[in-house]
Amino acid sequence: APVIVAIDGPSGTGKSSTSKAVAAELGLRYLDTGAQYRAITWWMLSNGIDVADPTAVAAAAGKPVIVSGTDPARPTITVDGADAAGPIRTQEVTAAVSAVSAVAEVRGRITELQRSIAAGTAEGTDPADVAAPSRGIVVEGRDIGTTVLPDADLKVFLTASPEARAARRSGELRGKDSADLATTRAALLKRDAADSGRKASPLKKADDAVEVDTTELTLEQVVECVVTLVRE
Ligand code: C5P
Repeated sequence: APVIVAIDGPSGTGKSSTSKAVAAELGLRYLDTGAQYRAITWWMLSNGIDVADPTAVAAAAGKPVIVSGTDPARPTITVDGADAAGPIRTQEVTAAVSAVSAVAEVRGRITELQRSIAAGTAEGTDPADVAAPSRGIVVEGRDIGTTVLPDADLKVFLTASPEARAARRSGELRGKDSADLATTRAALLKRDAADSGRKASPLKKADDAVEVDTTELTLEQVVECVVTLVRE
């Protein structure tokens, strides 16, 4: 049976880099579920939906067509056929994504896509991915082990100190959408608090997840640790 690996945790713990590297090393597909929530948020902002109005967001949740390409070497995301990889990383989307993600209709819709992609069916995936042989998938997010794929073969929960997380995030943003460390740290903690405090599938470690604190570890060390856990 295909292997399913769930990697959850707050922002800046190295989830994306770790998940991509683990998938590449083990020949698995890779799904960035944060990119899906960012994509639906970008669509809401682009279509004049008031993201502070949960009723308006809920009513529009079924409209955008979101397709994820799951090659770990080249993950892609499109919304209504348009490449969304760039626009979903702007500060505007980052600031709005927690509010949009808290709406139950949004989570229901995106969760359905995630389960379909993990099962290898066509909905929500690039047709090329469905055709490609697959040994399984690494799915990264906030609620994968608790809600989306509770039967995953391995669940990992990544953590790191707020200082380490803010430093990593501002390193990623340098030159692009840069902000100083204190601003980045404040925005990141605010987003985590919203993600952890919401009613619908809050960010939370699954009881059967393995917690890995990445504060003092290099990316290579975290990847090696997760690869070992998958192989066990
Ligand atoms: O991982 P990333 O920082 O790109 O995720 C963006 C946002 O998407 C998170 O802050 C959270 O609000 C939402 N998200 C979620 N559930 C997931 C993945 C992301 O609610 N499984």
